[in-house]
Amino acid sequence: MDLRSLNKEELNIVLKEWGLKSFRVNQIYDWFHVKLIRDYNEMTNVSKELRMRLNEEYPLNCIKIDRVQESRLDGTRKYLHRLSDGNYVESVFMRYRHGNSVCISSQVGCKMGCRFCASTLDGFERNLTPAEMLDQIYSITRDTGERISNVVVMGTGEPMDNYDNVVKFYRLLTDENGLNISGRNVTVSTCGIVPGIMKLAEENLTLTLALSLHATTDEKRKELMPIANTYSIRELMEACKTYFEKTGRRVSFEYALVAGVNDTATDAKELIALAREAKAHVNLIPVNPIKERDYRRGSREAIEAFKNSLEKNRINCTIRREMGTDIDGACGQLRRRKLAEG
Ligand code: SF4
Repeated sequence: MDLRSLNKEELNIVLKEWGLKSFRVNQIYDWFHVKLIRDYNEMTNVSKELRMRLNEEYPLNCIKIDRVQESRLDGTRKYLHRLSDGNYVESVFMRYRHGNSVCISSQVGCKMGCRFCASTLDGFERNLTPAEMLDQIYSITRDTGERISNVVVMGTGEPMDNYDNVVKFYRLLTDENGLNISGRNVTVSTCGIVPGIMKLAEENLTLTLALSLHATTDEKRKELMPIANTYSIRELMEACKTYFEKTGRRVSFEYALVAGVNDTATDAKELIALAREAKAHVNLIPVNPIKERDYRRGSREAIEAFKNSLEKNRINCTIRREMGTDIDGACGQLRRRKLAEG
């Protein structure tokens, strides 16, 4: 167990058994989540004996940066992290005017099988722990020396398939005694696992929920996302409405525009109706071509025209700004290349 996966109360319970006082536990928590140590020996106000015992009984499973690609266009940095068991995950650091943002992975691989996604091509390996999710942010903060103010759980993995760890990660990330990132600045993206959305609605969190919608009919959605065989768009809309009612937070529909597949005038019309019903914001994503699949992106004009038709109908809509287009675009590609290298 990596102690960084525990909240303060849990850490207190574990270390109280060693006779440690609360103030000492608070110091250790601070070293973990504010000073972002990678090694117990960095804890200069803690005795050598305690550091050694911690290291023996609860070694930190820190992730290591294996590879970084930096965009010459906008400074976006794509990280390939090596986990302590030899697995690899990707995370991306992006600079925006409103602050720095990191997109993290929540699983090693993914079992959801979305057709447009490279992260799922090698299947699912395992869930990430809360500490491993936090560590992607901690490691990048240390590497860049810059504060991160926004976090998106939109890299490899389906967060609702690793529900408890993701919620715990969120609570640690937004803890005022930790990095204290505003809950409103955290986005969690799901491919549409209805029970997960319903459960999340009850957690009293301020995060933004993003739903990967990508198609407006069940038939079309099934072609792109196998999860659509389990949950219909109707069920999803009901879940989004519940989420909005319970949390007061608008769901964001993620919609990857694939030329000739889901970008017609009829698609726009249907998307307008769904967004209106769920009071959702729409985020259009020019699809990232991946060489294993035959999906093309539309022209800039076609994407703008799609957006305009939504806005004319008073749907709040954005086109995701593309970052780091000169480095390996699609999520999951860096890890795939590493696996292929052996
Ligand atoms: S888009 Fe997300 S949920 Fe779908 S396969 Fe990729 S990582 Fe998994």
